[in-house]
Amino acid sequence: MVTRLRKISHTSQFRQCFDSILCKKYSTLTVAPGKDYKNLAAFHKKLTGSKRILALCGAGLSASSGLPTFRGAGGLWRTRNATEIATPEAFETDPGLVWLFYAYRRHMALKATPNLGHFALTALAENLPGFLCLTQNVDNLSIRAAHPPSQLRPLHGSLFNIKCSNPHCSYTEKNNTSDPLHPSLALAALDPAEDEPHPLLDPSHALEHMPAADLPACPECKALLRPDVVWYGEPLDEDMLTSVDEWIDDAQVDLVLVIGTSAVVWPAAGYIERARGRKTSVVTINPEAEKPDNLRKMRKRDFAFVGDAAVLLPQLLEPIIGKPGKNGTYKSKLTSTPNVGC
Ligand SMILES: [Zn+2]
Repeated sequence: MVTRLRKISHTSQFRQCFDSILCKKYSTLTVAPGKDYKNLAAFHKKLTGSKRILALCGAGLSASSGLPTFRGAGGLWRTRNATEIATPEAFETDPGLVWLFYAYRRHMALKATPNLGHFALTALAENLPGFLCLTQNVDNLSIRAAHPPSQLRPLHGSLFNIKCSNPHCSYTEKNNTSDPLHPSLALAALDPAEDEPHPLLDPSHALEHMPAADLPACPECKALLRPDVVWYGEPLDEDMLTSVDEWIDDAQVDLVLVIGTSAVVWPAAGYIERARGRKTSVVTINPEAEKPDNLRKMRKRDFAFVGDAAVLLPQLLEPIIGKPGKNGTYKSKLTSTPNVGC
């Protein structure tokens, strides 16, 4: 009999940081990790015996592509905590600042290229029909690494999808890669010389307040357009959550890969325990995998590998995906063509 947490409650489908709740929720479940928790051969044995694998990816997956994680040391944007900017309240108060933040992230994501971690996950998807990848990243790099869309759930949306901020208007744009998106956001698409700070990242460079009338507007109702990403305090797409629930409930999940995330943003983090059955192993892959907070959450079948996902994933998944080719990809059909839909 598989034991899983009950379905995530409606109220917890809103994107939130829940460090303390997670701590309370799982403190009673804590068992020390087994002796082989960082043994590669033991992990490979588990991997090759796994038919259904779920991955939860976070910003650490894209870190070696040069994109900041916006948690920990890189968490500030100008002098503001990034999690304060990614909210409906911030957009209501200062839509110009929020748009500059997202325009800058669009520009950075367009300049970045997928890394070996993204390509390894794509190869896993192509070799294992029972693999589903949940990503909290909005940078489109998994899509650009040709990850099959049917095996990818971008839980927090995409920087390159735009929608109307008017809840009564259904206007959307998919995969808009214009850079800058709008003349008013040209500063975010600037590439200063290497020895000069970017004016958007330099807090001593004052930003002029941008009136709402200067920002991208909906062609149908004239309200402000906004990035189609899930801000803190907003619900995730219900259809997507339902599809993930159904996938998890379909059969036992053998392995859960937790990649480049501290797994404290709800509801994504809840899927780790929800997918856990009696024989499931959870493997944590990130530079902080052996920190006490993570070790405390581990159980005897779990694994933890410390390091960069772009380095570790090709090694960890090698028994299934083989070695990458000279160009760093796994098969000739893999490309890094920018932004092939979302
Ligand atoms: Zn509209």
